[in-house]
Formats: sequence, C-alpha cells, structure tokens
Amino acid sequence: MNVNLEELVNKFVLDLTSLLHNNIYNSVSVKIAGQTKTMRLYDNGEKIVAKKKRKVVLCPVRRCKSVAAPVFGMVCKKHKDVPKKVVNEFRRLRKAKAAK
Ligand SMILES: [Zn+2]
Repeated sequence: MNVNLEELVNKFVLDLTSLLHNNIYNSVSVKIAGQTKTMRLYDNGEKIVAKKKRKVVLCPVRRCKSVAAPVFGMVCKKHKDVPKKVVNEFRRLRKAKAAK
C-alpha cells in the first residue's frame, strides 16, 4: 500500500512537472511570438517574398514619374490635391494603355 502511494505521488509530481513545463514553454513562446513579429516573417518564406515583392506604384497622373503613396490616395505628393475624378481618369487611361 505504501509503495503504491509512493508511486502515485511520484507520478503525480512528474505529471505536474511536465504540465508546468509545458505551461511555461507555451507562455514563453507566445511572448516571443508577440515580441518578434518581424522575426516571424523569416520563418515563413511566403510572407517574406510577399513583402519583398511589394511593387512600386507610380503616380497615375500623366507624365508623372513620382511614386504614389497610400497616404495621398495612391498618387504622389505633388498630385495629392488633384481631384479623385481626374486621377481616376488618368488611372483608367493608363490601364487601357497597359492592356494594349
Ligand atoms: Zn504625380
């Protein structure tokens, strides 16, 4: 009876230890994952490729070679005040040209 109890306690302690270990491991890896978002990009080949391949969009305004920025509504800094209607027309023309 005494031996069985000892075994039971030993098993309980072992289980508890591995449970604690798993809990610590999980919380640590969650912390690491939360803190190193950029590092995780390197774990995933697709993500890093997607980031690298982020294409440069040029301002749609005719003869403008500046890079468009999302903060200006996908036109360049110089043309950020151009009405959306006009920009859309330029965009449409450029698309038609590209389709040819
Ligand atoms: Zn422009």
